[in-house]
Amino acid sequence: MKTPIGIDKTTGEIRSIRDVETNGLACNCRCPNEACGADLVARFCKEKENHFAHHRKKGGTACQEKALHLLAKHLIVTRGASLFPVLTLDSTQCYSYLNELYEDSEEYFGTVTTLRRAREEVNLPEFAIKPDIFCETTLNGVEVQLAIEVKVTHEVDDEKLSKIEKANLTAFEIDLSNLVSLSELTTEQVEQALAETYRYKWLHVEAEVKEGLQRALDERVRLMARKRNDEINDWQNSVTAFLTEKGHISLPRYQYPEIRIKPEITDLGGFTHKVRLPKPPSLQQKITVSDIAPLKDGVMVLETRAGNRRFPLPVIFVEGPFVEGPLTGSYLQLDYGRGLPDCHKFESRLQWGRSEKAERYVSKVTRLKHEAKVRKDREVKTRIERRLKEYQQIVESGSYPRSGNAPQIARDYETACEELMQRGINREAYMADLPESWIFGCPQEHWQTLLLRALCVVNNELADVKYFANSLKNYHSIEALEPVKSLGYLKRAMEQLKYPPNDVPTTFGVIISYFDALCRKGYMRYAGRGNYLKSTMPYGPAYRQVQQYYRS
Ligand SMILES: [Zn+2]
Repeated sequence: MKTPIGIDKTTGEIRSIRDVETNGLACNCRCPNEACGADLVARFCKEKENHFAHHRKKGGTACQEKALHLLAKHLIVTRGASLFPVLTLDSTQCYSYLNELYEDSEEYFGTVTTLRRAREEVNLPEFAIKPDIFCETTLNGVEVQLAIEVKVTHEVDDEKLSKIEKANLTAFEIDLSNLVSLSELTTEQVEQALAETYRYKWLHVEAEVKEGLQRALDERVRLMARKRNDEINDWQNSVTAFLTEKGHISLPRYQYPEIRIKPEITDLGGFTHKVRLPKPPSLQQKITVSDIAPLKDGVMVLETRAGNRRFPLPVIFVEGPFVEGPLTGSYLQLDYGRGLPDCHKFESRLQWGRSEKAERYVSKVTRLKHEAKVRKDREVKTRIERRLKEYQQIVESGSYPRSGNAPQIARDYETACEELMQRGINREAYMADLPESWIFGCPQEHWQTLLLRALCVVNNELADVKYFANSLKNYHSIEALEPVKSLGYLKRAMEQLKYPPNDVPTTFGVIISYFDALCRKGYMRYAGRGNYLKSTMPYGPAYRQVQQYYRS
């Protein structure tokens, strides 16, 4: 183990290797650890740093700790100065009349400061403590006694800390504990560590010093707030003079929440309906201002009169977008984010924060709209139930309704049959017997033949269900009959009312079943993925043959 420090065996003084001139045992030093007490040999090397080594003995951790502690104290005392820890103070918080927060924080000390009469291990019986270093110094112009603790193995415990605080003794701690593990301790390393601010921590700063700094900091912040309040006072005086002379104030236009007062509702089927609503009350009016109370906590109260009624109307000052405040009743707001407005512009910058009259109107309108919606929703529900009942009756009776266009459809069917026959297409092969196909109000054979003809002449590669449903409707007036048609439009409402899905067939569903049947017979083939699976199909090989024949 190598250390840069030893104790003179004759005088008991600390000897740094830098001060020793005689080599080997002649240096007359022993290990600073009394429990060890080994003789030290001074070694002067060319490559390595000069050092002491234990003579005929191995030094332990305790020897290293003791040497480090001693060296640190020795360096500080010999230098007669030390780095001081940083003291951070936060000011007391102050608010302006506009509720603006004023605060600050400041860092003090943290620099190398002169120590006077620095001594090591001084017994202070009056405080029952023995600091590592005791000295005098000047902090912020105040003469104080200072204790410095060097932490190597254990820090200052609570008991010692409370003694220091009780004694109002200025003290700080330097943490060197991570240097203990170094295998070779050098003076340079310790000097470098002593220059590192993060190792320094205040244990206590004399009350007079700390309070003095706090007072000065608080006073500075208070002055800033006071200066702001003077500005606010001047501003309010100009506004008061302006409004008092004018005698009245023009209230701003009230911004009704557009969506809430719109005379329209949407029922649960997704259909919109107009609703008759009363006109919104006009809030644009002039009121007399008799007095203005001083601005406080961001609120300025106008004493107003309208007719015989006197009432206070607060103006809330907000910086930026308005946030719902704790006030009840009506009040105005003013956004002073870009500065307090000139007194001439004061009125134009006002907005309603809350108006009881307007809110009464909005809640009345909301109630009327709600009632209308309840009525409309009930109608939708009744309609669904009636249609479902009709559907059930049709299914149970087995006598299916006929489309009003049945004669026209029959004539179109005849023409298509002839056309397909002339082309040599075996129409019967493409027919399918499907359940619930009655919804088209004509024999299955009719609409399937017409669809087959449309499929043959269509000039695209994919059979799109939606496209063919439209072609049946547009060219042959074939579409779902009531009640299926209505129930199709009421699908969204049925979902919301939690009716079981897919109870009622749809036009698309029936056409998909037909295409499914053609696929099973090998005339068509599925294409696409997901939702497109059912709506788009390419022509199968057999079907393609038919189409080519038809074209030729
Ligand atoms: Zn030792």
